[in-house]
Amino acid sequence: MMSVSNIFLPIAVSYPQASALVVFANTFSIDLSHINVYALAQYASIAICLLSFLVQSLLHHKMNRFAATPLTSGLTGAQIAKKMLQHHGIHDVTITHTSGKLTDHYNPLNKSVNLSEEVYHGCHTAAAAVAAHECGHAVQHAHGYAFLQMRSALVPIVSFTSRYMIFIIMLGIFAMHTTPVPLEIGVGLFAMTTLFSFITLPVEFDASSRALAWIDRQGIVSISEYKQAKSALWWAAMTYVLAALGSLAELLRLVALLNRRRD
Ligand SMILES: [Zn+2]
Repeated sequence: MMSVSNIFLPIAVSYPQASALVVFANTFSIDLSHINVYALAQYASIAICLLSFLVQSLLHHKMNRFAATPLTSGLTGAQIAKKMLQHHGIHDVTITHTSGKLTDHYNPLNKSVNLSEEVYHGCHTAAAAVAAHECGHAVQHAHGYAFLQMRSALVPIVSFTSRYMIFIIMLGIFAMHTTPVPLEIGVGLFAMTTLFSFITLPVEFDASSRALAWIDRQGIVSISEYKQAKSALWWAAMTYVLAALGSLAELLRLVALLNRRRD
């Protein structure tokens, strides 16, 4: 299985000046020139894709298991969300329910906490964890949390670039032997989406830590329920980590493709 160091190896090889790995390699006289960055990034992409599938399945399994036991406090996800927003003095955010499974999200544009039916009406640890997590985003918004602001600023750019990116990259690969320009533009656009997925990480981890601290302090959950909530949010965060790493591996594969054309 591909390790994290293998995922970052292509960066080290692509940007030798800034690479601690190259310093290490020079110190011990290790030859890095034979490394095929393109193949390495491709293997990393496949490994991350398989790992993402496993983590998603595990998350679904855990959520289903945590949804089977009723919460001691008897509160539903919607009631917990209402309590958390009130406790933080937030009165301009609406709590609503949305269709689908794991579709829960906070919308900063219309200031709404959108909970899936199962979380909104659910009275179990999974519902408590997810509802508090989404309210964690509302608290970030109210406090002007820097990474959320950066993420929100990137949303219109990323939704625009992700719409056209794939066509530009395909055109770039097709025209690669004539001109590198379309592929360079495509790689630039893809880099924006990679940056976006990495900025998402502190936003997600911070919302979860706000959620866990609050449900613990307010006695919303018992000790064993707290452990379940922590586990659910940790596995949910792992899906974001893998998405970011997958995007990075794909970006490196494209950079390697571009470099191959230049050689
Ligand atoms: Zn979130």
